[in-house]
Amino acid sequence: MEFMIDVHCHMQFHSFKKDADEVIKKALHSGVEVIINTGTSLESSESAVKLAEKYEKLYAIVGIHPHHADKLKDGWDKKLIKIAKSSNKVVGIGEIGLDYYSYASNGIVDPQMQKQVFERQLEIANELELPLQIHNRQAGDDILKIINDKWSIINRGGMFHCMSGNVEFLNNVLDLGFYVGFDGNITYEGIAKGEDTPLSELVKNAPIERIVTETDAPFLTPIPFRGSRNESVHVIIVGSQIAKIKGLTQEEVENKTSENARRIFNL
Ligand SMILES: [Zn+2]
Ligand SMILES: [Zn+2]
Repeated sequence: MEFMIDVHCHMQFHSFKKDADEVIKKALHSGVEVIINTGTSLESSESAVKLAEKYEKLYAIVGIHPHHADKLKDGWDKKLIKIAKSSNKVVGIGEIGLDYYSYASNGIVDPQMQKQVFERQLEIANELELPLQIHNRQAGDDILKIINDKWSIINRGGMFHCMSGNVEFLNNVLDLGFYVGFDGNITYEGIAKGEDTPLSELVKNAPIERIVTETDAPFLTPIPFRGSRNESVHVIIVGSQIAKIKGLTQEEVENKTSENARRIFNL
């Protein structure tokens, strides 16, 4: 694969503090055409924008992850708008959404708070005319409900990142016109905790015209590198795995997913 696009990773995170530049250059010299770093808080959104300003092939998506919905102070939304407007390398609002998985570190953030922050960011995306990059973990029904309720202000559509859930949920997401992103966890055997459908089943059921590739680096490292820090260069493995599951050539996957990413984010 020559020109893959990683539509969702976090090169601005602490684990890349020492070697972000090396990791980015390696990816860009090894067949990754474009890297989009996504924010999860005001701080990491700002750092994603800084990286995007530094490299021509890097872009940023800014937003508050549902995990951080309980740590916001008054005026956070105005700050987010300011960050989003600070650079023309900002191509979307994300990762936003809902997360009902109970994490060992912080449990589940109050769902009401998550919903408020998600809804406010849908308004911001609408105001700035930017597409959405949605994070969903075991909260698919509530996310769909909010999207349907707010449908009149969802003008640019977008994508669900790190797609999970069942085939019915996938079909609902596709019917609404959204694209779906897959990561290195599609190389893992079995089914993740709390899920009932193997990711390969979702890859099979999603048309290639709606799929985009991502790494979520430093997380979700694909096999055979599982256990070490993930890097953007491994988006190539994600592409190969999609090709294998769907019986397509690597070129078909590369061309279609890049075309999709460019269409969503206007790259
Ligand atoms: Zn996420
Ligand atoms: Zn992420």
